[in-house]
Amino acid sequence: MKTAGKLVVLGSINADHILNLDTFPTPGETVTGNRYQVAFGGKGANQAVAAGRSGANIAFIACTGDDDTGERVRNQLASDNIDIAPVSVVEGESTGVALIFVNAEGENVIGIHAGANAALTPDRVVAQKALIAGADALLMQLESPVESVLAAAKFAHENHTTVVLNPAPARVLSDELLALVDIITPNETEAEKLTGIRVENDEDAARAAKALHDKGINTVIITLGSRGVWASVEGEGRRVPGFKVKAVDTIAAGDTFNGALVTALLEGEQLDTAIRFAHAAAAIAVTRPGAQPSVPWRNEIDEFLS
Ligand code: ADP
Repeated sequence: MKTAGKLVVLGSINADHILNLDTFPTPGETVTGNRYQVAFGGKGANQAVAAGRSGANIAFIACTGDDDTGERVRNQLASDNIDIAPVSVVEGESTGVALIFVNAEGENVIGIHAGANAALTPDRVVAQKALIAGADALLMQLESPVESVLAAAKFAHENHTTVVLNPAPARVLSDELLALVDIITPNETEAEKLTGIRVENDEDAARAAKALHDKGINTVIITLGSRGVWASVEGEGRRVPGFKVKAVDTIAAGDTFNGALVTALLEGEQLDTAIRFAHAAAAIAVTRPGAQPSVPWRNEIDEFLS
């Protein structure tokens, strides 16, 4: 096993409560479901788990509540090869939850309570300044307060820690934040939100990538679902196709891709090799249901690629 550079992930933790039902309830209606499960999710935690299981040397900056769920999530994260020392337990707060209804067509409606995730304030980021400064890469998403994402990006940038931003869920971001990002990994929806360019083919992806380069970002990787990614470095772009698999659900596909991509880059892999590794990890994840339960371990990724 190679010695990997140090990764810090900063982001959200949720417990996903998933209820499958035939049809969504309408206002005032009660519908009985046919399957209920609780699985751990949250984009930050999913990406941390993907990195941990794929072999990264990773610490996770996040917040849980002081409830039972928080304790169970922290234990799970620790068993996924993640240093959870920087996970704060917030007194009197509940751990973040996502309430997910899935209908017979596989469509979902989701309500989220940020809970302890909202307590990941800039002062908690300041408390982890040394950790961020000492890391080789910092991976973040947008389920945490954006002012905290900005504060962490500033520390990282000042200390030559590579800033990787998965700008999900989709939102408009300030030029100030984008200028601090080294690698950005939007999906098509997020790329459109950031650039105003609708991404439907490779030409659109190239134009969206250029718009993001123009904001000062060196490497743009737009994920295109089953079509793979558009990868662009300093304006030189190409599509890197993914692997063909039978998809069960694509929950956490993007998160798995991000965690595995950064892991491979920190092992010193070239971008195309790292993308191939991340495609393999994400392809495995889409063949399995759920968020974290679907994220593969390193030996499974290596076997898939062999
Ligand atoms: P998000 O989940 O953030 O919307 P995407 O849907 O773009 O992200 O998928 C991210 C990555 O997951 C893709 O680049 C690819 O590696 C993998 N992936 C997603 N869907 C499929 C699929 N149907 N078959 C194989 N790989 C997939």
